[in-house]
Amino acid sequence: MLVLVINAGSSSLKYQLLDTKTRKVFAKGNCERIGIDGSFIGHEENGGEKQKLEVALPNHEVAVKHVFQILKDADIDANKIGGIGHRVVQGGWYFPESKVVTDETLGWVREVAPLAPLHNYAEADVIDICHRMFPNIGNVIVTDTAFHYNMPEKAYRYALPRDVVDKFHIRKYGAHGTSHRYIWRETSKFLNGDVHQLVSCHLGSGASLCAIQDGHSMDTTMGLTPLDGLIMGTRCGTIDPATVCYLEREGHYTVDQVDTMMNKQSGLLALSGVSSDSRDIEKGAAEGNKNCQMALEMFYYRTSQLIAEMAQSMHGFDTMVFTAGIGENSDTMRKGIVDQLAWFGVKLDDRKNAVRSDDPRIISADDSSVKVLVVPTNEELMIALDVEELLSK
Ligand code: ADP
Repeated sequence: MLVLVINAGSSSLKYQLLDTKTRKVFAKGNCERIGIDGSFIGHEENGGEKQKLEVALPNHEVAVKHVFQILKDADIDANKIGGIGHRVVQGGWYFPESKVVTDETLGWVREVAPLAPLHNYAEADVIDICHRMFPNIGNVIVTDTAFHYNMPEKAYRYALPRDVVDKFHIRKYGAHGTSHRYIWRETSKFLNGDVHQLVSCHLGSGASLCAIQDGHSMDTTMGLTPLDGLIMGTRCGTIDPATVCYLEREGHYTVDQVDTMMNKQSGLLALSGVSSDSRDIEKGAAEGNKNCQMALEMFYYRTSQLIAEMAQSMHGFDTMVFTAGIGENSDTMRKGIVDQLAWFGVKLDDRKNAVRSDDPRIISADDSSVKVLVVPTNEELMIALDVEELLSK
């Protein structure tokens, strides 16, 4: 099935048109600076060179129209598209799995939007636009939280007063669920089913771990929002929650200032003082920059600690997988993390770790206590497969 996958943000709209059978990507791109001066679309076709199309994008509706016009210009008429998959960041208490778009399911995306205001409102608007513009094409909602919805209560419940938790729907929702689900699927296929307790390490500019037992999420490091857990590009990850009260009381910061600080000005960026991009930090560390060296040391320390936490939630693990920007590309950072787990017998084969490839591969030594793999993630394909499955029913 030919599926258009859409990932809308407050001022951007990423799209990818792919075939579920062959996995071929026909076109992909990003509408950037929607509603802001200097908007443009970066577009690629059939793996060719990226073109920059400078167009006015006053709102998401105009952006969607441009995307369909671009596809039409590439000879891909809307009626060849079998379905549209929408990535939704927060599914709240309504999406234990992906669902076909109806007035009711679209309403749910809006209802839970206060939990992810920067994403869900824009996503709901774009779903509505596609639903109205192309009534003959099925639309499907695929949320980042669905995979974690059925994790055990002891893992998702917060130790706050029950009435507060119930009133505000506070729990661990997690994120990156589509990626973790894909990683389980691909790893299981690659190892011919010989995997039961997997720690999936999605390390990109946003980063999370997931404990997956026989295909089910048992725990994950992100929480009510994606701020929790690992040290990320610009997010602080887990800190004492009283820090927020302290900054507001003693530092006179507003809620929004603390929110921005913890989401956009912290993490590797704050630690290194150089960049949020791990490549710049690796380079800085190699050149002797002490702050970059400490940023890496802390990243390895926290990530390995939380890997152990994920393993503990399953009472063991047989496999761990690295994925996303850092996980797929940085042999240095993979080694930095795995070296912290040497006490437990986890060991890389340095030669295998250095290999660059777009295919799943084992990088652990033969005598490692746990298999370590690199498996490239593909959230768009996972979304497209859900679209195909739901619309073929
Ligand atoms: P996201 O989807 O969350 O924006 P990605 O999974 O694309 O993130 O990861 C982006 C991050 O991965 C970059 O900020 C950088 O730190 C890291 N990264 C990407 N490519 C490489 C590479 N070739 N080598 C090392 N790190 C990389």
